[in-house]
Amino acid sequence: MIVANWKMNGSKEEVDSWLRFVSANILINKTIPCVFCPPSCYLDYSSSLIKKISSPVKLGAQNINHSNNSALTGGINSHMLKDFLTDYVLIGHSEQREYLNEDNESLQYKIKDALIKNISPIFCIGEPKNIKDQGNTQDYLRSQLEILNTMDSDQITIAYEPIWAIGTGENADKIYIEEVHSFIKEFCCQELNFKEKVSVVYGGSVKLSNCEEILSSSKVDGLLIGGASLDPETFAKIYNLS
Ligand code: PEP
Repeated sequence: MIVANWKMNGSKEEVDSWLRFVSANILINKTIPCVFCPPSCYLDYSSSLIKKISSPVKLGAQNINHSNNSALTGGINSHMLKDFLTDYVLIGHSEQREYLNEDNESLQYKIKDALIKNISPIFCIGEPKNIKDQGNTQDYLRSQLEILNTMDSDQITIAYEPIWAIGTGENADKIYIEEVHSFIKEFCCQELNFKEKVSVVYGGSVKLSNCEEILSSSKVDGLLIGGASLDPETFAKIYNLS
């Protein structure tokens, strides 16, 4: 899976030209979904355009809200995402964990809510720099992964995104990524009893110049791309190298 996470970027015009360019220029491989996650205000437009031009691109949302059945001004629920024909949703991105105080309990609810509506969660996990420097990455990731216990696993993708690599230009190196992805896969299989082998994608300063090296690892099942996904030419090239 190759995912474009636009974060809080773009305009309707840019969404339009990105989708048209990428749809026309990717060599679509049915086993490798190409997922576009625009800001939520462009989901409806993106969904209509994808349908209109018979695009192979799949639609993903950047978040889903959880209100415990209380009113939530500004919230978007899984039912609404399904209205836009959304196939995927990012859950637990480090920026939302930090700025919106998302905790394990609310993340678990979001994942369950997405699964009920048949929207595939892309569950983001990753450690901050100090945790890596102390050699505590695995313990940290274990505490994030534990919420997947008892979940129906075959629809969940894990995105490993070390926080120190997001938007910094400093990607994790291949050996480190392999080590962490192996740990995640083993943990999901042995501790969480996932029925299927889990897909683990890498995110954090992926660009055209480093994507081939990262993708050459058998432990890497795809990429989650922020900054470099904004340019349709770059993104299409990365997809075609996958
Ligand atoms: C992200 O936002 O998930 C991300 C990986 O960003 P970037 O590629 O810009 O580091």
